[in-house]
Amino acid sequence: MHPISDHHFIGGELWRSSSNARIEVLNPSSGLVLGEIPDGDITDIDHAITSAVAAGPGWADRSPRERSTVLVNLANLLRVHAEELARLDSMDSGRTLAETRAQVSRSAEQLEYCAAVADKLEGRVVPLNSGFSASTMLEPYGVIGALTPWNAPLLQITQKTSHAIAAGNTVVVKPSPLACFSTLHYGMLAQEAGLPAGVLSIVMGGADTGQALVQDERIAKVTFTGSVKTGRHIAGVCGARGASVALELGGKCPLLIFADCDLEGAAVDTARASFGTTGQSCVSAARILVEASVYDDFLQLLKSETGKYIGGDPLHEETVMGPMISAAARDHVVSLLEDAISVGAQVAGGEWPPHSQQEGGFFMNPVLLEDVPETARIKREEIFGPVTCIERFDDEEAGVLSANTGFFGLAAGAYTTNASRVRRLQRNLHAGNVWINCYKMLDPALPFGGDKASGIGRECGIDGILNFVKPKSLVEAIRTN
Ligand code: NAD
Repeated sequence: MHPISDHHFIGGELWRSSSNARIEVLNPSSGLVLGEIPDGDITDIDHAITSAVAAGPGWADRSPRERSTVLVNLANLLRVHAEELARLDSMDSGRTLAETRAQVSRSAEQLEYCAAVADKLEGRVVPLNSGFSASTMLEPYGVIGALTPWNAPLLQITQKTSHAIAAGNTVVVKPSPLACFSTLHYGMLAQEAGLPAGVLSIVMGGADTGQALVQDERIAKVTFTGSVKTGRHIAGVCGARGASVALELGGKCPLLIFADCDLEGAAVDTARASFGTTGQSCVSAARILVEASVYDDFLQLLKSETGKYIGGDPLHEETVMGPMISAAARDHVVSLLEDAISVGAQVAGGEWPPHSQQEGGFFMNPVLLEDVPETARIKREEIFGPVTCIERFDDEEAGVLSANTGFFGLAAGAYTTNASRVRRLQRNLHAGNVWINCYKMLDPALPFGGDKASGIGRECGIDGILNFVKPKSLVEAIRTN
């Protein structure tokens, strides 16, 4: 499967942009151009929204089971094209084949989950006084505007569209220009699966294209996944025109290691949680909090695991970690490290200064920091790269207090064998997702999302699909004659 260059997907077909502006998309493993996308303008956005508006009533009127059939067909087509889609995402986003294969599979499961839930969006009978019959029905919003990040191209578009389409909405997606080619294939496969023209359109482009989408009055709801900065800006645009918005934003996730756990197993999982996806995951473990009595032992184990993460070609089967997405992303992480070291942070493991910048690619091997002062930017800001900070805590109360510090609240993890502590941690950790003795356990049936600055609303699970319907109240006076 080759990247489809230079097109949008609008109204059921590949569509040439009305604008001449183009964005080059680089292969992060080589720094070479993988393809070109149009930088969509207001005319492209208008065309996509117009076709979404036109397709809306017909799609909403289809029976939920008919909508489910299309989603199941699409899931099957993703499986048929799994290897090609995985390779495309690996070339485009730099994620290893193991990761992108898992994401294609997860995308198919996501579609099947939403297909199974579509006919269960039931209203309620509401008891009023005996003179009235009252009930609610769940209605789709209309046209959804969806903005996705680059770090899981196929899975992100699947997550953004599967709930909304199952619930009877139509969707216009604007993917990240950094990695977006699989989204065009997804659009074409959706068409092949039987999705009517206009129910899903994909407009390529950068921030201005996204801005044109979210400010259009015909977009009833915006669903956004990306950085806190962009998310807050988009929430402002939506708020100003009274449109609903759901945000999946960044994180700075703590992982607590208690003295009673299997330290060796926890070290393996911690390295994967921190450096898997080259640390470019919203739920990457960015703060490792270790009970003081086992700090030195755990640090040795983690140092040894960290050394196993070496950047390589994501298309090679044995590669455990790909490159970063861009030179700018790598420079940002390097600048956070330089700042931390300049105020006293110590490099406890990994590779610093970075010297494994393979020719052309945006590679960077992991760095483990300790004794990071409060004044370091890395203490507060999302890293989004293969760097983690390790620190001690004295007891459970202090560990939880430290884990809950900061303005993110996306996910938190802990390793412990104390059953009572598990219950306390589940209640006391302030995050949308809490994993105990495992990390990054995600499933289409589990709601996913962030507290505090990490987001508004949830994706996946029943809660994810309820994000894309609104209850309408129906009241009828009962006549006495
Ligand atoms: P980003 O905020 O730079 O971009 C996200 C999307 O918004 C892209 O499509 C981009 O083109 C678009 N955009 C940028 N400026 C815009 C504007 N002014 N108006 C409209 N659209 C605009 O994020 P990114 O660098 O692509 O992704 C990395 C971020 O995403 C990290 O912060 C990561 O934590 C977060 N993320 C969160 C989740 C989650 O589920 N919580 C999942 C993956 C990534």
